[in-house]
Amino acid sequence: MKYYEAARDMSWRVLLECKITSLPVDLNIIADNYNIEIVGYSDSPLTKLFNHEAVSGDGFITRINKRKVIFLNDNIKTRGRRRFTVAHELGHGILNHPLEEIVTRNNEVDSKTDPLEMQANVFSRDILAPACVLEGLGVTNAEEIVSICDISKVSAQIRLERLNMLRERGMFNKHPLERQVSKQFEQFINAYKIV
Ligand SMILES: [Zn+2]
Repeated sequence: MKYYEAARDMSWRVLLECKITSLPVDLNIIADNYNIEIVGYSDSPLTKLFNHEAVSGDGFITRINKRKVIFLNDNIKTRGRRRFTVAHELGHGILNHPLEEIVTRNNEVDSKTDPLEMQANVFSRDILAPACVLEGLGVTNAEEIVSICDISKVSAQIRLERLNMLRERGMFNKHPLERQVSKQFEQFINAYKIV
């Protein structure tokens, strides 16, 4: 629980710090803000730098000359999946997880037990699809979440289920940081409701 809350709270802090006011979230703004570089596999002589295992999968983050660099497998053609990977790796970077050992993200074999992987997933989900904003917009189906957040259908479905659970429990804007995020998105939410 401690792990989960730390990642969730950090997602709110990042949205606030980067002054994100609308969805879909521009991940480049976040990466720039934390001085993290994003490089596509095809733009880099990867196989010369890393072993084969590292460059398979969806992507990974590492440190090169003190700078954090996310390598993204741009052969993955699903934009929503690439966005999830980048947000996940940003989570590792921003939450200051150790980067000495390269852990390649692979959507097909996602670790559900490693607390650091779990944290990166929570961060990714909460940064791409902040619950309080989706609640403010009054979304009711996964397709809507796909188009608002620019994420995959699978992620959107998982998000919707979580959203409905939070609705049942009335768990929105309880935390001061979340209230600030809601406030920051107020204009976006109101404009969306009109048209
Ligand atoms: Zn990871």
